[in-house]
Amino acid sequence: MTTKTNCGELAVMGGLPAFADPFFVGCPNIGEREAFLRRINDILDRRWLTNNGVYVQELERKLEKYLGVKHCIAMCNATIALEISIRALGMTGEVIVPSFTFVATAHSLQWQQITPVFCDIDSVSHSLDPQRVEALITPRTSGIIGVHLWGKPCAVEALADIARRRNLRLLYDAAHAFGCSHEGQMIGCFGDAEVFSFHATKFFNTFEGGAVTTNDDDLAARIRLMKNFGFAGYDDVTYIGTNGKMSEMSAAMGLTSLEQVDVLIEVNRRNHQAYAAGLADLPGIRLVPYHGRDKFNYQYVVLEIDVEQTGIERDALMRTLHAENVMARRYFFPGCHNMEPYRSYFPHAGLLLPETEKLVTKVISLPTGTAVSTENIASICQIIRLALANPDEIAKAVRTPQMLRPALNQERSSAAF
Ligand SMILES: *Cc1c(COP(=O)(O)O)cnc(C)c1O
Repeated sequence: MTTKTNCGELAVMGGLPAFADPFFVGCPNIGEREAFLRRINDILDRRWLTNNGVYVQELERKLEKYLGVKHCIAMCNATIALEISIRALGMTGEVIVPSFTFVATAHSLQWQQITPVFCDIDSVSHSLDPQRVEALITPRTSGIIGVHLWGKPCAVEALADIARRRNLRLLYDAAHAFGCSHEGQMIGCFGDAEVFSFHATKFFNTFEGGAVTTNDDDLAARIRLMKNFGFAGYDDVTYIGTNGKMSEMSAAMGLTSLEQVDVLIEVNRRNHQAYAAGLADLPGIRLVPYHGRDKFNYQYVVLEIDVEQTGIERDALMRTLHAENVMARRYFFPGCHNMEPYRSYFPHAGLLLPETEKLVTKVISLPTGTAVSTENIASICQIIRLALANPDEIAKAVRTPQMLRPALNQERSSAAF
C-alpha cells in the first residue's frame, strides 16, 4: 500500500495502483474459523445435512431471541424467501416497491406474475416516500414492499398507517438491515413480515441464506409449509410449495457469525468513522450518515457525488478508484425500472421517478468490513481528495481508451461478488 501525494501518482494517470490486491465491496466477513470447523465436523458425524436439522433450529431460535420476534424461518436465500412471503401473504395484482433497490426485490414479484409498481424515494433517506406510495394505489394494489436500504429503517410508521387504512399487506426487504433497530425495536419486527439476506456479501452471512421473520403465527405456519414443498407430515402434502430450505452448513456459518456480530458492527462503525473523517469538508461529497440512538450495522459506505460541486463525474471517480484496485460500486445502477423486463414493460416509468433517476447517477459505495483497515481507508480517501483537486486531468485520463480497459475488466471480475 502506498499513500499518494500528487495527482500524477494516481494509477489512472499511469502510476502504480495503491493496492496490490483488489478491495471488493461486500468482501465476506468470516467468524471464528475453529468454531465453524467444529460445527462442520459435528454435522458430518451426524450425517444430517439439511431438512430442519439441529443447527438450523438452533439458528432460528437464537435469531428470534436476538431480533425479539416470535418466528424466524431460515431459508436458502432472500430471493426465495421474498417469493414465498409474497405468496404466503396473498399478494396479487400490483405491489408497490422502490426501483432503487437490488433487482431481486422486483423480480420476486414479477416471477409470480405480480406487477411491481415502482415508487420514488425520499432524496435524503433513499427509501420509499410514503406520500408517493399512497398516490400509486389502485384497485389492483395488494401490498407494499419497503426496503431498509443501507440498513436504515424505512418510514415504518407512515407505511404501516397506509397499509392499515388501505387494507394492504406490508412486507419489508430487510436484506441490508440485520443487526439494525428502529426506536429501540430490532428490524425484523415490522410490517406483516420481514426478509433478511444472509448472502456472502451481506453484513451477516451463511454463505447463501436468508430468513423470514414475523409475529403472525398463521403466516409463519404457511411459510414453513411452503419452503418445504408443502409437506405437513411424512407423506402429507397440504399446500403448493417449493424448496426454500437452509442447509446445516449454512446454519453453522450463521451461528458462528452470530457469536461475532458485535465485533463486526464495531469494525464497520470504526471504518465508517474513518471514511467520515477522511472525506470531511470535501465539497460535493455526501457520505450517507448513520445518525441517532438506534443500532446500525454500518455495512454500507455510500457516497453521493454532486458533479456540480466536485467537477468530477461519479463514473470518472469510480474508474479512478478501480485503477487503484478499490472496486467501488454503483449501487443500484441503473435502477430496476431501467432493467429488463421492466424497461420494456414500463418504458416511461422514469417520469414518475425523478429522485431515483437522479440518485442512480450519483451514488457510489466503497469497501468496508474486516478486510479493510483504517490505514487503507485513509489511502482511499486521499485518492478521492487528489481526484477532486484535479477534475480536468482525471476527466481526460478516464477518456483514454487504454486506461478504460483494465478498469472495465476489473469491474467484470467483481461481478462475482
Ligand atoms: C442481496 C439482496 C437481495 C437478495 O438476497 P439473496 O440472499 O442474494 O437472494 C434482495 N434484496 C436486497 C435489497 C439485497 O441487497
